[in-house]
Amino acid sequence: MLKVILNHDLLAENANQAEENRSILDANEVLAINLIGSPGAGKTLLLERTLEVLGEKVRIGVIEGDIATVRDAARIERYGIPVVQINTEGMCHLNARMVRRALCELPLHELDLIFIENVGNLVCPAAFDLGEHHKVAVMSVTEGSDKPLKYPRIFEKASAVVVNKSDLLRYTDFDFNECKTELLQINSTLNVFLVSSTTGANLHLWVDWCSETIVR
Ligand code: MG
Ligand code: ZN
Repeated sequence: MLKVILNHDLLAENANQAEENRSILDANEVLAINLIGSPGAGKTLLLERTLEVLGEKVRIGVIEGDIATVRDAARIERYGIPVVQINTEGMCHLNARMVRRALCELPLHELDLIFIENVGNLVCPAAFDLGEHHKVAVMSVTEGSDKPLKYPRIFEKASAVVVNKSDLLRYTDFDFNECKTELLQINSTLNVFLVSSTTGANLHLWVDWCSETIVR
């Protein structure tokens, strides 16, 4: 007997689990932010810088998604906060069931905010609701300003976009104004931040957005 499971069914199952995750987070008054971006966009460094500033007033936990290794989780662990690594063993995105298992490992009643660093990939993580409250796209100026129109889905669904590595702007032909205009064409409600996790430039704008979002 041949049974075919359609992508549609998998997404429906994922959506149910995501709603359950959101209920668990809401019951514990924890806000979850899902960071999505290509490999090398600087998601982990952004997270580290964010923890340094925001971690002083907000109780943060982290879920790290990677195909292999615990390298990113080890970087985060140095900040002395709860962190769970999910190894997807080849899968190119996190799904809601993986995140559910990670939530069981976190002291939710002691947290205000959870960052989920998704697997480095700009495509399918956008399709999988994890039960987060906000998706945030992380891109960098070295990736080129044409990415929003080429990968519109994530930007349609995101609440904010962090354009990272502004310190490298002068070495690229990246046009931030053009990029921002195109982002707002895709999604007029996007908050767009041009930052450098390396120099710290404008990071406070992003961190303030996170703080305001927790309060809301
Ligand atoms: Mg990373
Ligand atoms: Zn995938």
